[in-house]
Amino acid sequence: MRVPSHSINVRLLYVSRAAGPQTTTMTTSILAHAKANNAQQGITGVLCQGQGFFFQVIEGQRSRVNALYRRIAVDARHKDVEVLHYEEIQERRFGQWSMALVHLSVDDPMVRLQHPDFDPYSASGPQVMQQVMDLLAAGQPIELPRT
Ligand code: FAD
Repeated sequence: MRVPSHSINVRLLYVSRAAGPQTTTMTTSILAHAKANNAQQGITGVLCQGQGFFFQVIEGQRSRVNALYRRIAVDARHKDVEVLHYEEIQERRFGQWSMALVHLSVDDPMVRLQHPDFDPYSASGPQVMQQVMDLLAAGQPIELPRT
């Protein structure tokens, strides 16, 4: 059965390494773009950053999510951008945020950098997705309403 492509929604999770220091200026600039573009494109999600990493979940119409990911992937502010998880969805998990921001501290279980086992690049996608959900539930996201 054919489904109109605009009605297919997806959720994408990637991980990347910051190319330089993760400064407030950089975060502010990224979120300013996210707020303006994502609301207009009907994209929602969460950006977790800290300890040299970015984890970002973006969800929305498939072609729009794919297009945004292509732009993000070539952004010089980060490197080693790798998709960990990609799925078609019926419902959004982050529908209330055009892009929520969560800071990762060294104490977060998913970023115990001292832990020799921590390697997001070899972790299972659904597992990292669950950790992002847990972080968002437990943390203090800076909310960017969809407007
Ligand atoms: P322009 O603003 O015209 O920029 C041209 C090029 O320069 C692009 O390749 C851009 O990536 C790069 N660039 C822009 N600003 C800087 C800067 N200050 N320093 C270095 N390079 C720069 N955008 C969204 O719309 N939604 C998001 O959810 C989102 N999440 C992001 C998450 C991360 C971790 C990063 C690093 C970026 C994110 N961005 C997001 C920004 C995105 O990568 C693009 O910069 C933005 O969408 C503007 O794209 P543009 O094609 O209009 O580029």
